Amino acid sequence: MAKRDFYEVLGVAKNASADELKKAYRRLAMKYHPDRNPDDKSAEDKFKEANEAYEVLSDEDKRAAYDRYGHAGVDPNMAGGAGGFGGGGGAGFGDIFGDVFGDIFGGGGRGGQRSNRGSDLGYTLELDLEEAVRGTKVQIRVPTMAECETCDGSGAKKGTSATQCRACNGSGQVRVQQGFFVMSQTCPTCHGRGKVIPDPCKSCHGEGRVRKQKTLEVKIPAGVDTGDRIRLTGEGEAGTHGGPAGDLYVQVVVRDHRIFKRDGADLYCEVPIDFADAALGGELEVPTLDGRVKLRIPEGTQSGKLFRLKGKGVKPIRSHAPGDMLCRVVVETPVNLTPRQKELLQELRTSMNGEDGKQSPQKDSFFSAVRKFFDEMTK
Ligand SMILES: [Zn+2]
Ligand SMILES: [Zn+2]
Repeated sequence: MAKRDFYEVLGVAKNASADELKKAYRRLAMKYHPDRNPDDKSAEDKFKEANEAYEVLSDEDKRAAYDRYGHAGVDPNMAGGAGGFGGGGGAGFGDIFGDVFGDIFGGGGRGGQRSNRGSDLGYTLELDLEEAVRGTKVQIRVPTMAECETCDGSGAKKGTSATQCRACNGSGQVRVQQGFFVMSQTCPTCHGRGKVIPDPCKSCHGEGRVRKQKTLEVKIPAGVDTGDRIRLTGEGEAGTHGGPAGDLYVQVVVRDHRIFKRDGADLYCEVPIDFADAALGGELEVPTLDGRVKLRIPEGTQSGKLFRLKGKGVKPIRSHAPGDMLCRVVVETPVNLTPRQKELLQELRTSMNGEDGKQSPQKDSFFSAVRKFFDEMTK
């Protein structure tokens, strides 16, 4: 059977570019690959034919010889050709295949080296409300993996160093032939690092890092709240074999406060007042986070009434204006009265009984509703 023209085999023009050749070959190789066409002799032949054509045409010298002398110019079996290239068929084929398909199978050179980056760490930091609102500096102790000081993180014993892995020539990847495919795999000798340590450091057993308590000073910005997270770049675990460190995430938790409750930018506080102040009105001192302010209570203030103090709340992080303070007054019933005080209250009670519906409007409207309710029930 006469040998087909290589350009015809690949389905390209005589002046096809290297890129066009590569594309054409890739398409044919995928189509006729033996794994996709098991027990199909004609597919296997076409696959081999495409390989042979590409092997010649992808090499500038061989392509020139082929263009000039035809098959005779490149066939190793023909005497006087352009010099043999491989023993036909298999030899050299792996290289071409790896070259064309490397990017598909994720192999390929140094890009595939395994990362030695250290893990990120989390740390929960409890703060008082005042610290969270004003900002602070705190020292924290974090159990972590730190760079080994004996070997400066290299993992190699002092005076020695890591050497290039011979199994993969430092690429971290090895090529494994599987049938016709050449696959890239992580090098089992160096685990993808491309280097091996012939004489490991005794302190860290060659890992380049050791378990350690690390003390760090953390700057807490003013206005943080529970749920906020502060990232400390590079303060996580050290990488292995001198790889980059991970990050440390400080998670803020604000403790409950005895007086204040925080809701975003606002602060809440409950203020008990005695019933005379509530009835007569007056001025109260209420606490704020930075001292105290006067709060005027109008005459006849009811229990539960909410007073808003503008701008006396918290300025959250990423906000320009502070929120408000909300004071809820709770009227307290007096206890432990002296006989004289009781007498005065008796007097007050008697005097109030005459003024129907004016002095205790809530009570009166409630009891008139109750009366109506009972009346309707007994009809
Ligand atoms: Zn290796
Ligand atoms: Zn070490």
